[in-house]
Amino acid sequence: METKQFQAESKRLLEMMINSIYSQREVFLRELISNSSDAIDKIYYKALTDDSLTFDKESYYIKVVPDKGNRTLTIKDTGIGMTKEELENNLGIIAKSGSLAFKKEQEIKDGHDIIGQFGVGFYAAFMVADVVTVISKALGSEQAYKWESHGAEGYTITPCEKEAVGTDIILKIKENTEDESFDEYLEEYRLKSIIKKYSDFIRYPIKMDAAIK
Ligand code: ADP
Ligand code: MG
Repeated sequence: METKQFQAESKRLLEMMINSIYSQREVFLRELISNSSDAIDKIYYKALTDDSLTFDKESYYIKVVPDKGNRTLTIKDTGIGMTKEELENNLGIIAKSGSLAFKKEQEIKDGHDIIGQFGVGFYAAFMVADVVTVISKALGSEQAYKWESHGAEGYTITPCEKEAVGTDIILKIKENTEDESFDEYLEEYRLKSIIKKYSDFIRYPIKMDAAIK
């Protein structure tokens, strides 16, 4: 299996995320939930103009699933999903539309403000995870694909099984070190408070085992 390289610019952002400071990390969840919400928006707007699609409100949601046993945190959505090409193009390079594009070189080096205040996007996952797996099935495709990355060394894309259209982002939460703990990102109460703080305005339900909102 071939490991593909990230673009230089993406690699730099990724390294910044991997080495982010403690107080900024929690925003990873804001970024992933906002991507899920955008993906559901895309199905919603498609349904407005495509008669073969109906937007049944009950079927569209985001679900956050912590699993302490496996040390994973999964963010699932029933959004539009990504094809193999979209996984490649959207996750392998920095989205030029992202707010990062507006920031100057110096500020990117500095890093500090960007992470907290601006959307840093998908790569924020690497603030808390050492492996990120994206399993996605695009609307209108039969085949699902798995994108996986252990960080700066690159990523792989392989065919996989997924029943429903949408995306699952599976984060392998980092092991604790002598001075830092990542266990909080597997705790329901902590995840709920991060969601309340940053994602209260999201207009689709965000589920955990118990409803959050
Ligand atoms: P931005 O949201 O600013 O475009 P991101 O880095 O957050 O940048 O995401 C990059 C792109 O990856 C998104 O624009 C979208 O096309 C795709 N993407 C990320 N997460 C999802 C998801 N859950 N469902 C569908 N597409 C996604
Ligand atoms: Mg985003």
